[in-house]
Amino acid sequence: KRVEVGVEDHGIDPSLLDERAVRVVETLANAGFEAYIVGGAVRDLLLGMRPKDFDVATNATPEQVKGLFRRAFIIGRRFRIVHVVYGRGREHEVIEVSTFRALLGQESAEQVSGNEKTSKAELAGKSHVVDAEGRVLRDNVWGPQIEDAARRDFTVNALYYDPQRQLVVDYHGGLADAKQRVLRMIGDPEARYREDPVRIIRAVRFAAKLGFELEPKTRAPIQASAALLSNVPISRMFDEMIKLLQTGHSLASLESLRKLGLARGVFPVLDAMLTESGELPAGMRGDFVRMAFEDTDLRVREGRGVSPSFMLACMLWFEVLERWNRLREAGEPVVPALQQAIDTVFDARIGDISGRGKLATDMREIWMMQPRFERRSGSGVYTLIEQPRYRAGFDFLRLRADAGEIEPALADWWEDFALGSDDEREALLEDVR
Ligand code: ATP
Ligand code: MG
Repeated sequence: KRVEVGVEDHGIDPSLLDERAVRVVETLANAGFEAYIVGGAVRDLLLGMRPKDFDVATNATPEQVKGLFRRAFIIGRRFRIVHVVYGRGREHEVIEVSTFRALLGQESAEQVSGNEKTSKAELAGKSHVVDAEGRVLRDNVWGPQIEDAARRDFTVNALYYDPQRQLVVDYHGGLADAKQRVLRMIGDPEARYREDPVRIIRAVRFAAKLGFELEPKTRAPIQASAALLSNVPISRMFDEMIKLLQTGHSLASLESLRKLGLARGVFPVLDAMLTESGELPAGMRGDFVRMAFEDTDLRVREGRGVSPSFMLACMLWFEVLERWNRLREAGEPVVPALQQAIDTVFDARIGDISGRGKLATDMREIWMMQPRFERRSGSGVYTLIEQPRYRAGFDFLRLRADAGEIEPALADWWEDFALGSDDEREALLEDVR
């Protein structure tokens, strides 16, 4: 049932809108298409938050959308969408435009074994193409808005906003759920988790980020469905974990993972970090991660950036440290021992994820800087503070000091040194000679 809600009932503040997203909607509408702001942006607007990105949904095909904008790119194969790009360089902004997709039951998804090939049903315009594991390979069957809404995950994620008429379009009671702060899966939750197990993690993420309660029927099948997560590609799980930790409520997310029985056996990085019962370990080890997470949450909430590499470096540090110490005790020199420890932990917890080159390099750099902080003499001191990633390395050192792993005096020394004048630096070097 399609419900249109006016501004007196939804209360969206138009000043929170992004001009470019509105321009995209207008351009499409002027060309005779239906177009709406959709998904997370509408949800955040309803809650009075400024959305971090804007998606647009339309009944125009990707080719039609592309034709209407100067800089627009059709991307994706499994899920074709258009990126409309404004501005250049650091200032550039992308509005994602997707075409309304048809709702297709599992029964109509054709199994394609062996090599991917277009199924008959897809040619008839009525199916996904799935591989032997049932994963959707292509999902580009267009449909009406009502079907597009039904395919979305949670009721609050299935709202459409027309900025020109200031109307919210609601098919699944998302507006009422937003008001009551309830996260409710559209359709039969168990079936929806089976269709895409990542929705389990999304449920945890949105509940933590929005401070919503999981509606009981949405929560009930989660624990039993968790095993399905083992079929999700590692790289997608990895992305989801990063998103989960960047909600601004990372500790709350960990806690709700634990309550749902998902803290262990789902993410290898968390397995490295948490106890058997899914908690942060007592003492310094847990303190270190807790402090890192608190700091991250603060940054996210203040709208400052957080780097996944720094967080991950924190989450895996004690495992690296233990291996490093063991290798050193066995007589391995300091730097090769650290390198070897890092390699082992990467293999065990991150795996070979292509496209993660930068992330892994940054993590490695943070860790490899740590023994260099121990040597406070010679020209190495100057090259270290001039490193582009010095700040991340130092923040990491500071965290180690705060958690009691190392002497605070060492972090203080580096802070004074980095900020000091030439004379002060000379004096600091003299102090430790
Ligand atoms: P965020 O603020 O974290 O970006 P979001 O709601 O925008 O939250 P996205 O992952 O950007 O989340 O997805 C955009 C929209 O696409 C969602 O609001 C939802 O309607 C739909 N969607 C995304 N992933 C799924 C999924 N796995 N199953 C069903 N619908 C999904
Ligand atoms: Mg989004």
